[in-house]
Amino acid sequence: MLRITGGRVYDPANGIHGEVKDISISGGSIVAAVEGPGVRTIDATGMVVFPGGVDVHTHVAGAAINFARAMTPEDHRTAAKFIHSPVTRAGAGGATPTTFATGYLYAGMGYTTVNEAAVPVLSARHTHEELRDTPIVDKSCCVLMANNEILLDLLEQGEVERARDVVAWLVWAAKGYGVKAVNPGGVAAWKWGKDAKILSQPVEGYQKVTPAVIIAQLAAIVDGLNLPHPLHLHCNNLGAPGNFTTTLETMKVLEGHRAHMAHLQFHAYGGEDWGSLSSEASKIAEYFNAHPNLTADAGAILFGNSVTITADGPWQHLLYQLTGRKWGNLDVENETGCGIVPYTYKGGNVVNAVQWAVGLELLLLIQDPWRIFLTTDHPNGACFWRYPEIVHLLMNADFRRERVMKLPAKALQRTVLADLDREYSLAEIATITSAGPARALGLPRKGHLGPGADADVTIYNDDPDREAMFRSPRYVLKGGEVVVEEGDIKKVVEGREFIVQPSFDKSVEDYLRPLFEDYYTVTFDNYPVEVERLEGADIRKLDIS
Ligand SMILES: [Zn+2]
Repeated sequence: MLRITGGRVYDPANGIHGEVKDISISGGSIVAAVEGPGVRTIDATGMVVFPGGVDVHTHVAGAAINFARAMTPEDHRTAAKFIHSPVTRAGAGGATPTTFATGYLYAGMGYTTVNEAAVPVLSARHTHEELRDTPIVDKSCCVLMANNEILLDLLEQGEVERARDVVAWLVWAAKGYGVKAVNPGGVAAWKWGKDAKILSQPVEGYQKVTPAVIIAQLAAIVDGLNLPHPLHLHCNNLGAPGNFTTTLETMKVLEGHRAHMAHLQFHAYGGEDWGSLSSEASKIAEYFNAHPNLTADAGAILFGNSVTITADGPWQHLLYQLTGRKWGNLDVENETGCGIVPYTYKGGNVVNAVQWAVGLELLLLIQDPWRIFLTTDHPNGACFWRYPEIVHLLMNADFRRERVMKLPAKALQRTVLADLDREYSLAEIATITSAGPARALGLPRKGHLGPGADADVTIYNDDPDREAMFRSPRYVLKGGEVVVEEGDIKKVVEGREFIVQPSFDKSVEDYLRPLFEDYYTVTFDNYPVEVERLEGADIRKLDIS
């Protein structure tokens, strides 16, 4: 039993905004009070107490990030290292930290739950193995679905009910938590070297299936299956000049359904071409503010080295052509694909400067912190361990303006960031880094400090240098255990996985089995991840609504 005393508590989910209040912990959970001689105390007087951070969109495990790690040995050579010690195992940080280092680095900045945002069903087994090697943090993952050939064929034939069963079967086969759509139709078209840029245009090889159909049907299926997290959507035309119109159309298609818009920064551009790229964050934020069915994560970029990895194969081919950097391309049979290109964002580059501004503009122009969350689409926009730099930019308008004024003049003309005075409060930071993403993920024991919550607690020194404060928490507790002190890993605990078991008609297996015989390189029975592999997983059974 443990009591944290004297800290200023920020627990937005329970309406607590900086009150001095004790937090009591017993058996790994927050409780109303603890009594007796066995109670240990952490004196947090003068400190700030947050619920542990929750990352709604990151890439930390599976085939794509592993490929990215292999493609950047030069980065690993210079990266911060974890050495083998009685507490930690060896690992490298940098743009694509290795599994153990990923757990240490997340916990080291106060994050205790992460959602791996893109898992092809076929490589789900690999993903879970890596998640298991990612210590301390709890985990969930979203399964890639919007370019699955079986599913698109069913939508073409109008067999919506069977499509729903296939989605449910795939989520359970992958031991996933949510459904991810990446460039709906575009990755399927990429198999023929094409893309899907117009929402109303049939996807290559189909007559009726358009990106809009895929988006609307998947959002409806996810709602119908009662998945705790809505459709997690990477829109068409990621990264392309003028793509804000596609994003606005996509949000219109989603009316009447819940949806999470991933890395919105990459989808809020105006202009005709790279030479005229501009910010349309204001228009995106205006629509978004008026539509409470939507949540989003920022996908902000920071200047420096990154590695871009995405299932959006056609975009990655274009990025390779634009940069001449290394390019990796994977096809995952019938299901999805993946492209990898190392990338360096430069402050003096007008396009990169506009991108940098757009991420911050969205965070500042979207009014409700419960609907926009802090991410960099790790490792795409920047490494997750750089989040404290963004917190600093959000909390201090003078510091931000200083940085904005260093951007190229052309970038200043095409952005509105210089005019924005908003400063985030600590309560708002707690919302965009923890309470909001936990609610959007549908994790009732995460993102708050009320009785019944998991005892994931981060305690910071109240340092006016907000970057330093959020980079190095005084204490981090995971499930009631002190895992980090003064930024150092003190104890390593195992995180658990959250998975869902949606309902489906078992006869869908009779439908799928012959398709596997004909088209897949793995047999049907070898395809699903065995539940035994996910020891200690939190399994939520769902009924159809
Ligand atoms: Zn992503």
